[in-house]
Amino acid sequence: MSKELLSEVKALLDAKDPGQPEFQQAVMEVAESIAPVLERHPELKKAKIFERLIEPERIIQFRVPWVDDRGEIQVNRGFRIEMNSAIGPYKGGLRFHPSVNLSILKFLAFEQVFKNSLTTLPIGGGKGGADFDPKGKSDNEVMRFCQSFMSELQRHIGPDTDVPAGDIGVGGREIGYMFGMYKKIKNEFTGILTGKSLAWGGSLIRPEATGYGSVYFAENMLATKNETFKGKKCLVSGSGNVAQYTIEKLLDLGATPLTVSDSSGYIYDEAGIDREKLKFIMELKNIKRGRIKEYATKYKTAVFTPVDSTASFNPLWNHKAECAFPSATQNEINANDANNMVKNGVYVISEGANMPSTPDAVNIYLENKLLYGPGKAANAGGVAVSALEMSQNSMRLNWPSEEVDNRLKQIMKNIHDSSMTAAKEYGMEGNYVAGANIAGFLKVVNSMMDQGIV
Ligand code: NDP
Repeated sequence: MSKELLSEVKALLDAKDPGQPEFQQAVMEVAESIAPVLERHPELKKAKIFERLIEPERIIQFRVPWVDDRGEIQVNRGFRIEMNSAIGPYKGGLRFHPSVNLSILKFLAFEQVFKNSLTTLPIGGGKGGADFDPKGKSDNEVMRFCQSFMSELQRHIGPDTDVPAGDIGVGGREIGYMFGMYKKIKNEFTGILTGKSLAWGGSLIRPEATGYGSVYFAENMLATKNETFKGKKCLVSGSGNVAQYTIEKLLDLGATPLTVSDSSGYIYDEAGIDREKLKFIMELKNIKRGRIKEYATKYKTAVFTPVDSTASFNPLWNHKAECAFPSATQNEINANDANNMVKNGVYVISEGANMPSTPDAVNIYLENKLLYGPGKAANAGGVAVSALEMSQNSMRLNWPSEEVDNRLKQIMKNIHDSSMTAAKEYGMEGNYVAGANIAGFLKVVNSMMDQGIV
């Protein structure tokens, strides 16, 4: 049955979604995990629930024209994938990156459905963005782009319909420009975006939530072995929002982060990244918008190594450490990198990024029985606090940071425990991938069954 289901799904994807490798990768991973569930629940298979689940409820694609600082017209492509609204309004980030295409956004939207379900909060799944590259653009160019993007997106979103947030290339600045345009067009002040600034409807702890949550998830995995982060060496990739707050929480818990990266290469700091160095990274990346190699110019204990993304392995993952926090982008860890991590003593992996490990890398983690938290469980803290931001907006209230952080901790523990329990129930103890997929899947498909064929 399991093999039969997998070949049916693959044939369907090849027929309907050829040329969408990332989407196919994400769907096949879930199909593999939930095959035993469909076996136990023939009524779900009969209802063609998986076929319904992989078909987005709606895809919106639109033109985003804008004028650059030289007065030249630029044209980008914008998207919103409204994947599944069985348990709440569509919710998921916007990504601005030149690599953005339908396959990448559909994979992200699909993963988001399960992730949002795992949080236990009432949010459906979506994702969107544009093939726009904010790197090297002036603030005014970014503003004009965001305004043009929102002038179309505003037709499709709303506080009870679809509530986007940030992702790669979309931080506080971009959310601000988009919110301003939405408010001007609609003449209403509502929570249609999350990740807003505190002064106008944001939530405390939202910027920190994904990174903190990924560390809390790993802390829960370590606790199953009666271990803590004290003295553990950690590899972190990326140097954006998720990486920065992963490092901050690791420092809070007594670990030593050794690496950070961006798309041009990575830093290895043998003395460890401390709070002063983290402050430097935050200023460099969030204010000056500089490149990570400048870290090695400032701190002599650090070495910068350029990385070619087409090389057979990434040297960042080839250092002695106990824990790894991939926090940059999809498929950044291949089988060679996974083998290097095992060889170097890494036994905890918590994915801040979405699908950063290739299927072969994941198999190596599972074969070696590492404590492996897949992105849709480990990085769910971001969207969870986004949902708390929506609640605060609806009530027109602001919760103190301690309250939001405590809720985040509890949500990450619940996600950890429900993934662990679901894996055990289906005979795959210790496999958080299967557990997260099954737990997320059941809640969504049971809701779809309740709501009829729509
Ligand atoms: P940011 O834009 O803040 O940072 C992204 C970081 O990753 C940058 O250092 C960037 O380097 C690097 N990066 C991006 N693309 C590539 C690439 N193709 N190759 C190498 N490095 C790359 O994004 P976030 O920190 O918000 O997002 C990081 C990951 O976390 C993504 O996978 C995102 O989907 C995921 N995530 C984010 C959430 C959030 O709340 N922000 C929530 C859940 C998941 P450079 O500056 O050179 O491009």
